[in-house]
Amino acid sequence: MSEKTFIILMGAPGAGKGTQAKLLQADFNLPQVSTGDLFRFNLKNETELGKLAKSYMDKGELVPDDVTVSMVEQRLAEGDCAGGAILDGFPRSAAQAEALDNLLDKMNSRVAVVPFVRVEQEILVARLLKRAELEGRADDNEETIRTRMRVYHESTAPLLDYYSAKGLVVEIDGDRPVEVVQAELKQIVESKN
Ligand code: ADP
Repeated sequence: MSEKTFIILMGAPGAGKGTQAKLLQADFNLPQVSTGDLFRFNLKNETELGKLAKSYMDKGELVPDDVTVSMVEQRLAEGDCAGGAILDGFPRSAAQAEALDNLLDKMNSRVAVVPFVRVEQEILVARLLKRAELEGRADDNEETIRTRMRVYHESTAPLLDYYSAKGLVVEIDGDRPVEVVQAELKQIVESKN
């Protein structure tokens, strides 16, 4: 085990990665690094990065890899990531996964574990539509949700094979109460620590 602990939470949109990552932060004293949250922060503050990301996010498409990777690189260079991080929503493409490997190499580190929160597609869509009502997130409408699901299956799901080949993937049934998923996730991370 390297000094730094990098955990990649994988799962389709709506699987609960963000919720679980937030809960894990406290348990392991690692920051949650969510590319979706970072983009939304930039959007809200109308930064150049936010303006660039907006057109992709509104459609449910991926923001270009080079933009996303350099944002993550900057974030991981911040002091609170000295011990590692819980990555949520990144990597989302093969190019991002390779870029992450190179980044971690430079830090003499590597990915510790890739918990995969599995939830059936119909349940995911229902959850996202409900979130749309509750939170009013701009990209939680039916058409964008469909695009995000397609992008997930085409670009992100293949990463499970990439990390499985490295023996890093541990699957969790995400269709259970938040605290049950949380407890299992905590055990998985502890066993890899
Ligand atoms: P979801 O609930 O769909 O997983 P996120 O909050 O993680 O949503 O991301 C929202 C949007 O932000 C994505 O649809 C995409 O446009 C952009 N985004 C987030 N992470 C990435 C990434 N790693 N690469 C490219 N675009 C991203």
